[in-house]
Amino acid sequence: MEREYLLKNGRRLYYSAERCRFWLDTRPQWPEAEYMATELYSLRIEISHACNGYCRYCIVFGNHVQDLGRLDMPAVWAWLNEQEWFAKIRDIFLIGGEPMLFFDDILFIADHFSGKISFSTNGTLITAENARALKERGVFVYLSLDGPDREDNVNRVYRDGRPMYDDILRGLEHLEAAGTDKGIFMVSTPQTAGRIASVMEALSHRYRILKFGYSLPHWTENESGIVTPEQYRDALCAIYENRRRIDATVLQIKWRTGCLSAGRAKRFSCALHTVQTTLLPDRSIVRCAKIDHDPVLREVGNRALDDGCPLAQARDAGSRCAGCVALGSCGGGCPYDGLRRFGTIIDRRECVITPPVVELAIRDVVRHFENDAAAPAGLVPAETVRQIIG
Ligand code: SF4
Ligand code: SF4
Repeated sequence: MEREYLLKNGRRLYYSAERCRFWLDTRPQWPEAEYMATELYSLRIEISHACNGYCRYCIVFGNHVQDLGRLDMPAVWAWLNEQEWFAKIRDIFLIGGEPMLFFDDILFIADHFSGKISFSTNGTLITAENARALKERGVFVYLSLDGPDREDNVNRVYRDGRPMYDDILRGLEHLEAAGTDKGIFMVSTPQTAGRIASVMEALSHRYRILKFGYSLPHWTENESGIVTPEQYRDALCAIYENRRRIDATVLQIKWRTGCLSAGRAKRFSCALHTVQTTLLPDRSIVRCAKIDHDPVLREVGNRALDDGCPLAQARDAGSRCAGCVALGSCGGGCPYDGLRRFGTIIDRRECVITPPVVELAIRDVVRHFENDAAAPAGLVPAETVRQIIG
């Protein structure tokens, strides 16, 4: 899919959706498409699904995930080091349940692994002492918080229904005091979607936040009160428009506009059968805990995931993806949500969410070249686009 824009200064700008590239003035001679990496480099470890919390939108509890026990970390580590593929792993992400229930295991990994380590936590078990231990080892912490105020976090509760809010903030303060590198994971809710950009801005000015995650909830059996794709789209557009005031990277914006900044197309949103693999508490290796533990969905093979992605779908010129401005930036969203909600590999909520965000990024590129008469004709360097989009 190619677009042509006649700029106010008389120049022409072309955009190739499948390549995520721009071209100025002359008829484009597009280079071969380049793609985001798909080689394995990341390991996600679920030590245990045990948690001291009971957050209302949690996919673990919402889907009655069976208890798979707990990894014996020293034994697992010895086993991992015997696996050929493990030598490729440069990045480990720990998730639960609540990984801080197994703090010794986090330290064990940090003391035995030379790559990057990060984990997500509800923050309630972080003390001054363990914040310092994480800082010393360069571990990156993603703390879950839906906004700076108590009412933003009504879904984050303990098993007995008590709010976690005060304990989360105390954990955040300990991380801040220790100088631990940190991000905040937020789940999009109807309550906060309309003001999320100002919420992120406020948090990023109050604390040293390097990254924000702003998730669209995965499918669960009870979806009452879930954010709509339209609300989420509007939230992402507001975040994009305010990105220079938010002093942190917002991962969900980066995933959608990063392909334009990199000049590389993205085949898949989800890393499940490409750059990432997952180790579960029962020591099984899966692509995705949700898909591979479902008796029906586990039969969906990698070939189907390949063939179901937007760039493959677009080989049919009449398909919706073939004419989409977000073709090379989309990746199709979460296949689990796609299969549950639409019976396809693609989560069709992306069709509401991603094109408008990409349109905003293209608008900024158009505006830039309307004010840059001296820019050379031909293929626009990806670095130039990166500086424009940020
Ligand atoms: S398929 Fe969805 S739930 Fe599974 S790993 Fe990918 S994004 Fe996560
Ligand atoms: S947004 Fe929808 S139509 Fe566009 S590429 Fe993604 S899945 Fe296809």
